Amino acid sequence: MKLYPLFADLSGRQVLVVGGGVIGERKVAALLDAGARVTVGAPELTSALRGWVEQGQVWWRPGCFEEAWLDGVWLVIAATDDAALHGRIAALAQGRHLFANVVDDASLSSFHVPAVIDRAPVTIAISSGGRTPMLARLLRERLETLVDPVIAPLASLLGEMRHRIRAHLPDLAARRRFYDRLIRGPVQSLLRRGQFALAEEAVSRLLESAEVEPLGSVVLLGAGPGDPGLLTLKGLRALNEADVILHDRLVSAEVLALARRDAERIEVAKQAGHHHATQQQIHALMLQHATAGRRVVRLKGGDPFVFGRGGEELEFLREHGIPYEVVPGITAALACAAYAGVPLTHRDHAQSVRLVTAHCQGSVDTLDWRALAQERQTLAVYMGTSELPALQQQLLAHGRAATTPFALVENGSRPEQRVVTGTLSTLVERAAEHQVRSPALLIIGEVASLATSLAWFGPPPLGSAQPLPSRLPETLMA
Ligand code: SAH
Repeated sequence: MKLYPLFADLSGRQVLVVGGGVIGERKVAALLDAGARVTVGAPELTSALRGWVEQGQVWWRPGCFEEAWLDGVWLVIAATDDAALHGRIAALAQGRHLFANVVDDASLSSFHVPAVIDRAPVTIAISSGGRTPMLARLLRERLETLVDPVIAPLASLLGEMRHRIRAHLPDLAARRRFYDRLIRGPVQSLLRRGQFALAEEAVSRLLESAEVEPLGSVVLLGAGPGDPGLLTLKGLRALNEADVILHDRLVSAEVLALARRDAERIEVAKQAGHHHATQQQIHALMLQHATAGRRVVRLKGGDPFVFGRGGEELEFLREHGIPYEVVPGITAALACAAYAGVPLTHRDHAQSVRLVTAHCQGSVDTLDWRALAQERQTLAVYMGTSELPALQQQLLAHGRAATTPFALVENGSRPEQRVVTGTLSTLVERAAEHQVRSPALLIIGEVASLATSLAWFGPPPLGSAQPLPSRLPETLMA
């Protein structure tokens, strides 16, 4: 047996819910949301139901079920814990050609209530045919994270403009092409930014100039440090919609695997010493694909605005009139600290954090070392592996104590993560001893010593005196 999916317009229509407990309350709430006129029949009500009754939103028939309650209703939902009563209600409803839903009993129900993803006016409903509501619920949770909330204002806008669009493009195929280009264009991006008037204008413009190639868009997206679980929901959606992904070498394969299967993936690795040339190539690629009407995702490791040249890329897009969005990512300092058990600030140890890059000789010379050497602050140093000797020397020369702890986190948040700990005086030695390689992030400051006791991810820190506390209960250890 297969169900026929149906969306019912219940506004202003009488619906009966038998049962005044929490399940009845949930059913009533959903029905009220759909504008139904709800009667609830039960000897007792939950306090929320009683509140709705007092406000006049719900009618109450106190007492035990009587057949007359079914008079004049369009639907009935039985939500009591009385199986015999459920059977009786179902039989009476059947006799009256009335659709009935019996909670937790698919065989007695002539309609099922699906699991719902609500993007009103768009509704996605899932049914397992009553076989396994739990599976339908799990599927709903998945989709809930994937379906962009922008669907709601987009559907409202297109609903308002529907007649105009039909009149303008009576040919079905032309209309289809129009919608296809509309979805790829900047309209959704404008709606996401809350720019409704501009979005409407963009639809009008596209409608008037049906022949003109639409402009694509660029999402500047932070991929996080490697663990795909650290991607934002917005980031995941952007990857699902992308036609082209321009990604840095630092972006993990696991994150890329989340992208739409048929999206074109282009690695735009920067070779050391050729930054300028590569940056121009990246700009050219963004321009080329966006002007061809594609949805481009510019995917960067960590956060695009933290040592990521995101600013330059936006300036370029702005100059060329290409619409863009920015989706932040978890930057290496935050991720490495979290995955190494190092709180970047701590009431007792550090009241501020500095994100520092020690990339080229130039930056080592221009950094304000006196400020960086101050106590009770944490330094998170990016791109520093080749500059460790200079870093150590400058901090010591400007007064940072030789005993200041450090934690050097290599491949933070990835399965191959390693953490090397020690003190400022042993920094260079320890990094060489363990052959720490890029990508690695250096945390210097009093808080870094906490890595030895608070670490939870990957192998225990190298250089820690005590072993990691076991997470398995003792009974399992034997
Ligand atoms: N935009 C990025 C930083 C780019 S600079 C962000 O916000 O994280 C590149 C530097 O970031 C690397 O040299 C390294 O210092 C650091 N980094 C990035 N990912 C890392 C990771 N998974 N583990 C350790 N360091 C990382």
